[in-house]
Amino acid sequence: MKPVYFFDEGDGKNKKLLGGKGAGLCEMTRLKLPVPPGFIITTEVCNHYYQNNKKLPKGLLAQVKKNIAKIEKKTGKKWNSKDNPLLVSVRSGAAISMPGMMDTILNLGINDVTVEGLAKQSNNPRFALDSYRRFIQLFGKVVFGVDDKKFDEVLETAKKNQAVQSDGALNEKSLRGIVSEYKKICEKYAGRPFPSDPFEQLELAIKAVFASWKGERAIVYREKNNITKDIADGTAVNVVTMVFGNMGNDSATGVVFTRNPGDGTKHIFGDYLLNAQGEDVVAGVRTPKPIDNMKVELPTSYKQLENTCNKLEKHFREPQDIEFTIEQGRFYLLQTRNGKMNAVSMVKTSVDMVKEKLINKDQALRRIQAEQLEQLLHKTIDQNKAKGFKQVTKGIAASPGAASGVVVFDVKKATTMGENGTKVILVREETKPEDVPAFFAAAGILTSRGGKTSHAAVVARGMGKPCIVGCSDLKIDYDNGKCVADGQTINEGDTITIDGSSGGIFLGEMPTIQPQITDDFKTILDWSQKIKKIGVRANADTPDAAKLARKYGAQGIGLCRTERMFNAKDRIGLFVDMIMAKTLDERNVVLEKLKQLQKSDFIEILKAMEGYTVTIRLLDPPLHEFLPNPEELANKIYKLEKENSTVGLEQTKTILNRARDLAEINPMMGHRGVRLGITYPEIYRMQIIAVFEATAELVKQKVDARPQIMIPQVSSVAELNHIKRIYDEIKSEMEQKYKQKLKIDFGTMLEVVRACLTAQELANTAEFFSFGTNDLTQATFSFSREDAEGKFLPEYLEKDLLEKSPFQSIDENGVGSLMKIGIAGGRKIKPKLEIGICGEHGGDPSSIKFCHKSGLSYVSASPHRIPIAIVAAAQAVLEKPQKTNKKAKKKAKKKSKKR
Ligand code: ADP
Ligand code: MG
Ligand code: MG
Repeated sequence: MKPVYFFDEGDGKNKKLLGGKGAGLCEMTRLKLPVPPGFIITTEVCNHYYQNNKKLPKGLLAQVKKNIAKIEKKTGKKWNSKDNPLLVSVRSGAAISMPGMMDTILNLGINDVTVEGLAKQSNNPRFALDSYRRFIQLFGKVVFGVDDKKFDEVLETAKKNQAVQSDGALNEKSLRGIVSEYKKICEKYAGRPFPSDPFEQLELAIKAVFASWKGERAIVYREKNNITKDIADGTAVNVVTMVFGNMGNDSATGVVFTRNPGDGTKHIFGDYLLNAQGEDVVAGVRTPKPIDNMKVELPTSYKQLENTCNKLEKHFREPQDIEFTIEQGRFYLLQTRNGKMNAVSMVKTSVDMVKEKLINKDQALRRIQAEQLEQLLHKTIDQNKAKGFKQVTKGIAASPGAASGVVVFDVKKATTMGENGTKVILVREETKPEDVPAFFAAAGILTSRGGKTSHAAVVARGMGKPCIVGCSDLKIDYDNGKCVADGQTINEGDTITIDGSSGGIFLGEMPTIQPQITDDFKTILDWSQKIKKIGVRANADTPDAAKLARKYGAQGIGLCRTERMFNAKDRIGLFVDMIMAKTLDERNVVLEKLKQLQKSDFIEILKAMEGYTVTIRLLDPPLHEFLPNPEELANKIYKLEKENSTVGLEQTKTILNRARDLAEINPMMGHRGVRLGITYPEIYRMQIIAVFEATAELVKQKVDARPQIMIPQVSSVAELNHIKRIYDEIKSEMEQKYKQKLKIDFGTMLEVVRACLTAQELANTAEFFSFGTNDLTQATFSFSREDAEGKFLPEYLEKDLLEKSPFQSIDENGVGSLMKIGIAGGRKIKPKLEIGICGEHGGDPSSIKFCHKSGLSYVSASPHRIPIAIVAAAQAVLEKPQKTNKKAKKKAKKKSKKR
């Protein structure tokens, strides 16, 4: 193990060992860019430190001394010298940048002797003393843990005594007094003399950097951002020769991006400060100037900055985020890293860099974070105008996009108000299927319970409506028409803004930005379409959703849920009648009406997707989900009886009885899907006929309609065959009636464990498979989704018992194994069997990559995730490094020749 690397010994590749900052400094040194000399203590040393009771490895300090000597040689400065002292900064740096993990210690090596050297050398005693007092404060804070307040008090007193306003006006005498007071503060707090030996300072600082890796801030940051050990394991320490941006008006410090991270345009973007050290920019003590000013103030340095930006971009082939300092006209680079940018900028820079021949198309697609693209398809809060709006609280971001509206708690009221043109945010503890009409009418939905896959979340995502769920801070008081969060009361009728992308809830109406598919975005989607192999279809239940999906590039519908069609306001009543029907005849009358409605929906959807497959799933949820909940009914009866009213009383009682009849202990595993089709065949008959009639009519109109019929919740081939017989009967009836052949594939979902295990049997009957990975995940884990997300899943994630929620990303080892069994079984019988996935995983980039590798025919995702899916599907193809690809192909060719 080599514990220390001088900047000219490392390179940019090994970020895990050298940390991102260190690797960047090494790479820039190799490029002969002006980096102040320095060295890196590796992340391995950090891990050794923790494994050995917080002791530095033997010989480390000797190595450090050697490297300090090397700096001395390169710079001509001397460690602990009274003439030309070498000062350094000590900076943390893990493989991934973790903002705010630790404060950088500047000016280390300064003491009562070297401060005089610095004063002499800079010819500026005030500057030297100011550096000294800054060092003591930072060192005291980072190493000993002294509160900044203690130092600030001293500073304030000194300013008062000297009768000046700003720190910069303090004279030498005051500064000397401050230095001595500061030292006393540290000594009192730490119970030891302030270290004056530079090596002792350095040793303590190195340990403090290591300690910061397990500081609370860092741990929380890693948890929040899913930074696991294989991404970043320990921090490195960077020791860098100090350069001074605060040596007068020919000195400066600044931070820039090589391109605008907000919109991707190509110009240097950032700020700088004249006569300042880096921390001043961050601390916000002084307002920095826009970088364009530098053209006038420091023209030569600006030229250097420009050249440097170009050179770095050419080298890294990625816009950079740079920190620089100018010391008396000399330009130095202190950091570079790939710039973080928003989706707009990511897309624009990808296309631009291809035009500039900086990267090729494959590289352009590979660098995009597919997940980020969702930002481009929804209204977002205009961050430039967001100041002044108060975030009341935060929930789980369930469906992206921003929406403002008046708070309404009552579902019916929200529906009416929404339909009459008021912008409404529906606020509920949770939502149920019967609330769906309000979803259409509302601008956004906010619930205090539930997780990312709660009813509200799933429905809202399907519609592309902004939604926040699980906002447990929010206490809703339906009776008094108000809710309270964090001591703040929000009354019905108040305007709020919800940001479904971040989970933030704000008071008032915040300005938003409309989504737009730019030409650059279209270009990226075009490139992806050409590269990807796996099909991308949409989960869409309405003609509008189908049209939207097609506009975004979906090639078909992988899941069209028929129950959603019954949820519309004018239909739910009919459906309730159907459920309440006492006799088969009565039921058939209602079914006939429902059939007409379904048929017209199918016609519209099939038209919208003309030329592409549309997979229609027959009714899945249990019937009781369509009835009002028993508690509400009982309340209604109670009220009616209390008011001595008979209006609707009997009917409500009947509904209540029926609801109780239909109630189930575990509806998820209850009377639903194909089971319902077997016990109420008239429902499935009606749906199948509707599909056939819709198709026949479209064929007559010469519309290329391509429906498929899909049966949910199948666990055995016997069930499937049972429904197949009904289908066959209807098919021949219909073909006779319309006097034409009608091709409508009959297939099954694989969402029950047993279905995967017996896929080989199912494939004899099924003409296609589609994995319903939501239910399959529930069944594989025996986690009920709602309970898991609301109760224990967050803790599982926190305690690393699960890396990601299996409801978000396919659990490859478990659910994935079942899928592989299903695929192998199906294709054994029908080698070309079409197999897709229609769970919400179909829109998740890492799951899409898994599906691609597993040989699925297509993924199906909600309309707003189609672009993500298309790009992720292309990335799946690009994932293999191309060199090995070529080699593998060559090998394969050789082999085939031999044969
Ligand atoms: P962060 O990781 O928070 O960005 P850095 O280690 O980059 O922290 O340090 C913050 C700032 O401190 C830098 O941007 C730079 O302005 C200043 N700084 C760090 N090292 C030096 C140095 N050797 N000379 C001058 N300024 C430095
Ligand atoms: Mg930095
Ligand atoms: Mg299902």
